Order: sequence, then structure tokens, then C-alpha cells
Amino acid sequence: MRSARKPDWLKMRPPSGREFTDIRETLRERDLHTVCEEANCPNLGECWSGGAGTGEGEGGTATFMLMGDRCSRACNFCDVTTGGMEPLDPDEPANVADAIAEIGLDYVVLTSVDRDDLPDQGAGHFADTIREITDRHPGILVEVLIPDFRGEPELVRKIIDADPDVIAHNVETVDRLQFPVRDRRAGYEQSLSVLEQVDRESDIYTKTSIMLGHGEYDHEVYQTLADCRERGVDIVTLGQYLQPSRNHLDVERYDHPHKYETWRQVAEEELGYLYCASGPMVRSSYKAGELFVDAVLR
Ligand code: SF4
Ligand code: SF4
Repeated sequence: MRSARKPDWLKMRPPSGREFTDIRETLRERDLHTVCEEANCPNLGECWSGGAGTGEGEGGTATFMLMGDRCSRACNFCDVTTGGMEPLDPDEPANVADAIAEIGLDYVVLTSVDRDDLPDQGAGHFADTIREITDRHPGILVEVLIPDFRGEPELVRKIIDADPDVIAHNVETVDRLQFPVRDRRAGYEQSLSVLEQVDRESDIYTKTSIMLGHGEYDHEVYQTLADCRERGVDIVTLGQYLQPSRNHLDVERYDHPHKYETWRQVAEEELGYLYCASGPMVRSSYKAGELFVDAVLR
């Protein structure tokens, strides 16, 4: 089946400008990866040009992708290459901290590929990177988007102990569509258990994201929002799935921006989320700093 036709409201602004080239150069020099580039994020031009940061630093928002650009999993919506993972770079935590100073970020988002091939699935390296950043940049706000660590509580605990400001983990889609959308090692209940553990064992804010456009029904989206809230999730984002290539899942539907606004109201006013970023182009880290500061710290 062919994907649905892309509507006009999904026009992207191509990346350009000095901030964009400066950030890319800084990342290349240190052999660092961002999910912005690896996942072909539609907001790259806006975020890297400074439109989505907290407005207090000199640069925009970039989401660093730790532990390489190759993943041990194969989710059918994701553009990251599967297999061929490299050994971890012990200098990566310091390199990320250096890049943050050079770019001038005051809110940083870290995520990673999944590393099922490593004994601790990369949890220790992730935690080391958080500590390196907060030790060297007091006052910086750190959001981490973590893998499910196969639901192993002691690995999730390593991230909690590193004490970031926000721990995000994405359920990605409704319960019924977890497969085919996600790799078979992932799962709805496993993801909810990760979020619930963070809420139960810490005061760290929790966050999740849901993609729309995989053929989910409204009552399933509502149920997913309610399930996440019930397990203690504070912040949620909703965005449109875009097909990275013909080898990825088709887009079943493009919802109008009005529909996203309705979901935002449901999430915030009915279910009690601290805030909900919802729109066709929204991604987990879209305006992460700006929205967090506005909704939580002010
Ligand atoms: Fe990068 Fe997130 Fe912005 Fe996309 S939304 S460009 S991943 S910071
Ligand atoms: Fe992509 Fe899935 Fe790997 Fe995450 S776990 S980087 S979504 S393939």
C-alpha cells in the first residue's frame, strides 16, 4: 500500500544559516552524532538555527545521540541504521560536554541508540555523560530520552542516580500497534514500567511521546495518554509520523493541526499533564527547553 498524500502543513524549512553550519562543524570535529541528523528530523532547520532553544543560550537546540549512529534494534518507523555497532568511545562524555560549551546550550537533550549488545546496554555510559555535563556546567538543564533497557530496573536506576532534570522514554504508539511499529524487543507494558519506575523512585520529571499516523483510533490515543498519565508521566508530546523511505512503514493518515490542538487540550485540561506539545511537526525534543522552562520552572 502507498502512503497517504502529504498535506501542505507539513512543508519543511531546509536547514541553513550560520548557527546551523557552526553546530555541524562542532559536532564533526568531535565525532558526535545528533538524532536531528540521523533521523532526518523535519525541525532541524528551526532547532539548529536557534528557534527552539530556551532563548537564553547562544545556540539552538540539538539532541545528542550517544553510543554511535548504529542501533541494535530495527524499528519499522526509524531511519537509524541497524547493526554494525562500534565499541563505545570513552571520550564521548567529555566531547559532548565540550560541544555544549562551544555551542552555548543551557538546555541539552541526550538520547542514544539501543545497545542490546553491551552488558549494561549502555546505561553506565549514558549516566557518565549526564554527570560529565552537570559537573562541568552547573545550572544546565539536562533532558535524557532513554532506551527501555529491556525493562531491567537496575539499569534504569543508573540513569535516575545520575539525576538529570527530565527522563523521557517513548511509548511511540498505541498498545495495539507496538508491533509492527517498534522492534519486537520493545513493548507497551515494558515502556510504561520504565516510566513508572522513574516516577516512583525519584522526583525527576517524566516525559513520553506518541506518533500519530500509523492507523490508530482516537479511543486508542486517549487510552495511551491516560495509561501514561496513570503511570506518573508528567509531560507528553504528539507528532505526525513521516515515512523516512519507501522501506519504512507507510503513513496511514495525516491529521489536521486542529486535531493536535484537541489532543493538547485533552492531555493538559482533562488528564492533568504539566504540558503537552502537540502538532504535526512536533518531536520529543521539539522546543524541549523553552516549553519546560515556561511550563515547569516559571
Ligand atoms: Fe533535533 Fe529534536 Fe529539534 Fe528534531 S526536534 S531537530 S531531534 S532538537
Ligand atoms: Fe530507532 Fe528503534 Fe533504534 Fe530507537 S531503538 S534508534 S527508534 S531503531
